[in-house]
Order: sequence, then structure tokens, then C-alpha cells
Amino acid sequence: LVRLRSRLARSQSSLGRGLLTVLSREKLTEDDWEEVEETLLAADVGLAATTQIVQRLRTQTLVLATASGTQLRDLVVRELTAVLGPDLDRTLATEQPDRPAVVLVVGVNGAGKTTTVGKIARALVGDGRSVVLGAADTFRAAAADQLETWGERVGVLTVRGREGGDPASVAFEAVRTGIDAGVDTVLIDTAGRLHTKSGLMDELGKVKRVVEKLGPVDEVLLVLDATTGQNGVVQARVFTEAVTVTGVVLTKLDGTAKGGIVVAVQRELGIPVKLVGLGEGPDDLAPFEPEAFAEALVG
Ligand code: GDP
Repeated sequence: LVRLRSRLARSQSSLGRGLLTVLSREKLTEDDWEEVEETLLAADVGLAATTQIVQRLRTQTLVLATASGTQLRDLVVRELTAVLGPDLDRTLATEQPDRPAVVLVVGVNGAGKTTTVGKIARALVGDGRSVVLGAADTFRAAAADQLETWGERVGVLTVRGREGGDPASVAFEAVRTGIDAGVDTVLIDTAGRLHTKSGLMDELGKVKRVVEKLGPVDEVLLVLDATTGQNGVVQARVFTEAVTVTGVVLTKLDGTAKGGIVVAVQRELGIPVKLVGLGEGPDDLAPFEPEAFAEALVG
């Protein structure tokens, strides 16, 4: 929690602290409520959720007026937790009893896919699990090199094809290698070119279909860059149309003042944020926990 808190320092100063500052004023005026709204919108919470939070807070003005500093803080944490989807299922299907679990990682280039695959592999290996990586971004040799470097760093095998080869056949090979080796999890990094929407859809759909010849795909994780704000939500829609996304990984939360994007992503896409990226290092990945996140936002 301490680490999460320090990494979220930017979000913290604008969202949680901002709310606390306004709400601790003695008598809340219409201008103050507008400031609450602006604080939430500036943190990318989104209009619908902002309206909901403000409405809920306004019904508690009596409580607010008499609350001590700690009570006020607890109240803000509670309200933020409530909009962060505390009841959503965020378990990650990285294990199956009789076969490797297959995880597809999708998202636009630069969002942090390859880094996230590396970090997940690291966490799994740290837990004593065995992993194979698949470099299904065959369009850029650099992408496969980058994944292989992560594989070496973490100590797991990376299956890659030739540059310009068929992404689906690399994904298939990776899963087959995983099955033969009896590993726990196969993590597949995919290409994220958004040049043509239909091209991307066809390609992702094909990767998934081809892999499914060997068994089910257990997770499709969409990697979103938190610093792109509401734009990221728009991009994400394209992916959800191409494949059934089972979870979101929100990266670069260490570099943005817009922690509220978690709320917007979940509301608008209806998909739980399962993991958050808090830096470039191998251990800078955390499971998303609404209450801990709200606590860290408020500081
Ligand atoms: P891809 O094109 O989607 O595979 O993206 P990469 O994994 O290559 O990441 C793009 C850049 O974002 C790299 O410089 C990463 O180090 C950086 N990056 C990825 N995740 C995070 C994160 O959680 N925080 C920060 N600060 N940088 C990140």
C-alpha cells in the first residue's frame, strides 16, 4: 500500500487531496460543489460517475459539516471505493488443472503490452509457476526482441516466428510448446497496429480462433495507457469489438494525475481493471484492489 501510494502521488495530489481540501471547508457553497465536480472530471472519472459521486456527497452535507478530519477522509475513501466496482470479479485465470492457461494480451502499440507480459511472467515465476511466452507481434522484429529480452530476464522460453510471418501460427506454436512442456501458463503478446480497424479485428480474431484449436483462451487482457485519458476508452472500444476482453491492465498510472480513468474504463467498457502498471521495472505491476486504490488516492 505504501508503494502504491507513492507511485500514485500524482493522482493523489489532484483527486483525493483535492476532494478532501474542498470538502473540509466549513460551509459548502455551490462554487465548492462545482469545484468537487471539476476535480473529479479533471481526474478523468467521467461525467456519469462524477454526477453520481457528487449526488451522493450532497446527501451527506450534514455529516460533512460535523465530520472530523479522519471521518472525512474515511468518507471520501468509501465513496471512491463505491465507484471503483468493489464487487467485480478480478481473478486472473492463469492456471488450469489439466492444461496450460492461455492469456492473450492486446492493445495499441506503446500502451505497454510487452512490458506487461514480462511483468506478469515475472510474477508467475516468482510464485513458482512455469511460463512460455509467444511473440505474436511479427510485424516488428524489435517487438519480438523486446519480448525475448524479458523472457531471458525472467528465465522463461519465448516462442517467436520470422518477421512478417503469420501471428496466428506463432501463437499456435507457443501454445503447443506450452502444452508439450506442461507449463502452467502461456502468455501471448500481440500486434497493436490500429491502422485499419478491420485488419486488426481480423487478425486478433484469427489469432484467437487458431489458438482455440488447441484449447480455450482463458484471458484476453486489454492493455491501456492511463496517460491517454478518455481517448484510451475510445480506443479500447475497437478492441472489445474485435475480441471478448476479460480484463483491463491500466499502465503508466505512475505517470498521470488521472487515476479516475479506472472508473471511466470500467463503467464505459463494463470490463474490470484487473492489474495496474506503476512503473517500467519488472515488479511494477499490482493487482487492482478498489479499496487500497481509493486509500492510495486519498493519501
Ligand atoms: P507495447 O508497444 O504495447 O508492447 O508497449 P511497451 O511494452 O513496449 O511499452 C511502451 C513504453 O511504456 C516502454 O518504454 C515501457 O517501459 C513503458 N511502460 C510500460 N508500462 C509502464 C508503466 O506501468 N509505467 C511507466 N512509467 N512506463 C511503462
